[in-house]
Amino acid sequence: MKCPYCGKKSRVVDTRSAGEGVRRRRECQVCGRRFTTYEWIAPIRLVVVKTDGRREEFDRNKLLAGVSKACAKRPISIETIEDLVTGVEGKLYSRGEREVESRVIGEMVMEQLRQLDDVAYVRFASVYRRFADVERLAQEIEKLLERKRLEEKSK
Ligand SMILES: [Zn+2]
Repeated sequence: MKCPYCGKKSRVVDTRSAGEGVRRRRECQVCGRRFTTYEWIAPIRLVVVKTDGRREEFDRNKLLAGVSKACAKRPISIETIEDLVTGVEGKLYSRGEREVESRVIGEMVMEQLRQLDDVAYVRFASVYRRFADVERLAQEIEKLLERKRLEEKSK
């Protein structure tokens, strides 16, 4: 599996059972960062609570479609997108709660996209946060650029 941080190859350093699935610790062979993946044998039913309070069953394909749309025409492989969704899915199941607010899923995806691609991040954020107007979207981009500048400085 590819490293979610740099996209290079990773190796498994630890495998153990986790409830209904298998949890693997992986280490990137290039940047050395560690991350966790989960494989589900029989995942629990996860219910998404929408902002208006309505509930619907978590649908991986729907999330995948949303992320793919944000990544359209960007230099991001399908494998990377699938890994991102799998990572978010694993985090959701590992919370051990049956219900999750759609906002929480959105924030998780945004955190990942932010590290991956600025354009995809802003596209996804604009849908998930439902920016009231273009001004707020512009502010979000400003904040993003500022954060990038600070990150560059601290390197
Ligand atoms: Zn890496």
